[in-house]
Amino acid sequence: MKPLRGNRIESDNHSHILAASIESMTTAAKKKGLEQFSITEHISQFKGARESIEFSSFHTKGRVFHSLDEYRSEFEKVKPAPDFRLKMGLEVDFISRFQKQIGDFVNQRSWDILLCSVHELSDRKDIEANINSDPRSTERRWREYVEIEIEALESDYIPFDVLTHPVRLFGGIGDFPRDEIGGLLSDLARSARRHSKALELNGKDLEINERLVEQLARAAAKEGCQVSFGSDAHLPTQIMENSPQAANLIERFGLELKF
Ligand SMILES: [Zn+2]
Ligand SMILES: [Zn+2]
Repeated sequence: MKPLRGNRIESDNHSHILAASIESMTTAAKKKGLEQFSITEHISQFKGARESIEFSSFHTKGRVFHSLDEYRSEFEKVKPAPDFRLKMGLEVDFISRFQKQIGDFVNQRSWDILLCSVHELSDRKDIEANINSDPRSTERRWREYVEIEIEALESDYIPFDVLTHPVRLFGGIGDFPRDEIGGLLSDLARSARRHSKALELNGKDLEINERLVEQLARAAAKEGCQVSFGSDAHLPTQIMENSPQAANLIERFGLELKF
């Protein structure tokens, strides 16, 4: 187990360079005293992937890379520094019917870190778009969301390390089933442990609903699965955002950090 030093997290394992340069992001990460910093661009920001995979959820603005190699060469712009490890990664959608195409795209190269995320439901609804919902469909949607996440954890389409923002559906629904959520998140955490994947304590999720992330942390503790912190920063100022709340949850529930 990697202990927290003075109740402080020292790695941010989820960030993007579609809106800010790699130099500005890494300079900010170094200034914040991070030991490890991962840049994990969405695969939907790559021309080839966008052309062959129907993403229901992607950024309409921001940099689009022509190739994986163009993206990878960005990392050469960063001067190495002692006690600072920059990881080259990707945030990879799990879309059941495109597993093969996504796997073929990502697995062309090897990566320091891979994050897996579920951004859409099976009817292709973006989890963060306004999803009209009454209490009964809220329950159904959450069940469906967690089922897809478990399918992702059980899939070997890419060798990923972390399931990202596992409770982000709240962003689209604005509600969760109070009675059922504990059981659903326990199922998720059990599957993550079984497949040696970490669940992410995500800075944006913490911002949207801290209580829900607390439920996730409780489930991770109960089932003994590892966690990872990722701010999901798109701008230098967002790096490590809400990490103190994540650190508190890690201490309080005695969670184990994967990185
Ligand atoms: Zn995401
Ligand atoms: Zn992200």
